[in-house]
Amino acid sequence: MSRVSVTIEVDLPEGVDLLEYERHGDGHAFHVAWTLPEQCRCERCGHEEPTCLDAKQTFYTVRDLDVWGQPSFWVYQPPRHHCPHCGRRQHLLPPFKRQDVTYTYRFERHVLACLIGSSEEEVAQRLGIAAETVALIVANQIADHRAKEVDPQRVIHRIGMDEISLKKRHKLYATILTDLSNPAQPEILAVAAGRDRLAAEACLQKLSEQQRAGVQRHCTDMSPAYLGACADLLPHSQSVIDRFHVAQKLGAVADALRKK
Ligand SMILES: [Zn+2]
Repeated sequence: MSRVSVTIEVDLPEGVDLLEYERHGDGHAFHVAWTLPEQCRCERCGHEEPTCLDAKQTFYTVRDLDVWGQPSFWVYQPPRHHCPHCGRRQHLLPPFKRQDVTYTYRFERHVLACLIGSSEEEVAQRLGIAAETVALIVANQIADHRAKEVDPQRVIHRIGMDEISLKKRHKLYATILTDLSNPAQPEILAVAAGRDRLAAEACLQKLSEQQRAGVQRHCTDMSPAYLGACADLLPHSQSVIDRFHVAQKLGAVADALRKK
């Protein structure tokens, strides 16, 4: 057996550090840590004190994006604050995932992007997760995006609007608005429940009026709901009807990574 070494460039969210890398069979493990708050308020007695660190002697593993078509995992020792008043130990949540799930926020966004043009079973199978997990991720993302605005400083020339559907257990549809300004890196801007005009408008209204005026092209399928909402809310944009624009691009990115 011969060995070669390659360099991986890893994008880490703000405040997250990479401590170690280890290859694990057909997967990749990244040992990460993050900046902890200086002060903590105890959930039980309410006292706020300088963080008194008490790391649990175990490792938690969460799923992150694939590297070369293989799953990668973030591994960390869960930090806890030990309250000097009442003795309670409480977990300090990582900034890269929500409570009670075992995958990162960006893995959630990846799942959403994969659902454009694929069924929940296909996505579950491709990523090696349960179909229920796919459904939970979509529900959580819809809830998050209801409260979230798109950064008004962001310059957006081209957008895509797509429908995703989860039909297996409950009939759930959602509309996804994607920034296609950089064709190599489509990014999800908004997600709303439903595939009707209201859902399309809910997504577009996450952009400021100025941002909407700056959009020059919108790629959608033939859906009159999407076409109508874009015609009304994107005054300077031309319609490009292209069913598979995002799916193709995301597929191309995945292929390029695999070939590397
Ligand atoms: Zn306490």
